[in-house]
Amino acid sequence: MDTMTEHELLAFDRAHIWHPYASATRPLPCYPVAKAEGVYLELLDGRRLIDGMSSWWSAIHGYNHPVINAAMTAQIGRMSHVMFGGLTHRPAVELAQLLLTLVPDGLEHIFFCDSGSVAVEVAMKMALQYWHARSYPAKHAFVTIRQGYHGDTWHAMSVSDPDTGMHAIFNKNLATQYFLPAPRSRFHEPFDEAEATVVAAFLEQHHEQLAAFILEPVVQGAGGMNFYHPDYLKRVRQLCTDYDILLIADEIATGFGRTGKLFACEHAGIGADIMCVGKALTGGYLTLAATLCTGDVATAISDGSPGLFMHGPTFMANPLACATALASTKLLLASNWQERVGKIERVLKDRLSPLHHLESVADVRVLGAIGVVELKAPVPMERIQRQLVDEGIWLRPFGKLFYTMPPFIISEAELDTLCAGMCAVLNRY
Ligand code: PMP
Repeated sequence: MDTMTEHELLAFDRAHIWHPYASATRPLPCYPVAKAEGVYLELLDGRRLIDGMSSWWSAIHGYNHPVINAAMTAQIGRMSHVMFGGLTHRPAVELAQLLLTLVPDGLEHIFFCDSGSVAVEVAMKMALQYWHARSYPAKHAFVTIRQGYHGDTWHAMSVSDPDTGMHAIFNKNLATQYFLPAPRSRFHEPFDEAEATVVAAFLEQHHEQLAAFILEPVVQGAGGMNFYHPDYLKRVRQLCTDYDILLIADEIATGFGRTGKLFACEHAGIGADIMCVGKALTGGYLTLAATLCTGDVATAISDGSPGLFMHGPTFMANPLACATALASTKLLLASNWQERVGKIERVLKDRLSPLHHLESVADVRVLGAIGVVELKAPVPMERIQRQLVDEGIWLRPFGKLFYTMPPFIISEAELDTLCAGMCAVLNRY
């Protein structure tokens, strides 16, 4: 196996291995990565690509970071995993302690999950158990906003946008949830109060069936890369309180500094009843996520029947993942991340805004360390991907969205190269 040539490796991959959202029989080409260091992905043929994706929002410190590597090596020497039923350990406790000081006020309990989608399932189960325990079984439905994305498991799919989401084929099997229009007031523009009126009218009519309102705060990720006004979130928070509906904030993509705040809820100065984190939690090293909730939610579930929260995966609070997350989060806090994200934001605005004038471009928007160029038509993936690689950069556009969220450690020169590569490809497009 060690001696497989690049050609053999790719041939086997192509013949037998599924990739995300891919065909098994007619997959698009994959690029084999030999190693990754800092902001660079090094391909087997020696080409080095500047990573503009942070491995889907997660690798905020770049790759192969000595501090995180050291924390992982130390933890492997102690234990990589033990079950969490009846046992606990220092990495889980120290990580929980740190996270609870960082998240918006009011969140007091934490449930460790194995992935973002599972964290969303857990959040939704918490909401349902909460109302069951409080003897309001009629409150069983969820409301969300269009253009959202919350994951690929069943209930997470049910609250992801049925059109822009990739799940339409399962619609008949999904729980039916309520969808409100995607917020339209943009982050940097005035808030249109009419948007809050629509939400209020809906909640007024349906609150007796609603367990929770779930949304991605301020930045909607994979469902459309929409950056909406924090006042929308403020109004939703207030309306949820007024109508006795739990608010679930899915901070899986937005958490850990990406939008310029540690958590995107901070843009609106609000708290959530339940919050999900994942992705950058481990700095992109391992899969780990968490669902946090208020004392009120935890107490109601625990005091009601059956008095237990009904979830407990095999790899819950995996010690290696927790130790990694602890090291990554401490590293983030000890860094000048606000300054770095602010600088990335300025450079992305500066370099990408001129693309506005291209015939093929519908919109350019930047928030924190996220830059989006929305095209008028979907991109031909295979050709564009090859051109991006030829430019020495790694991006993974989808649909009409050409976007980047680089590691926070990217230098100005590397960011320049990344933007220049994007511009070159789009100018030719
Ligand atoms: N919620 C949001 C906002 C996400 O962006 C994602 C992943 N793209 C998920 C949930 C699901 O996370 P995972 O892929 O780790 O299951």
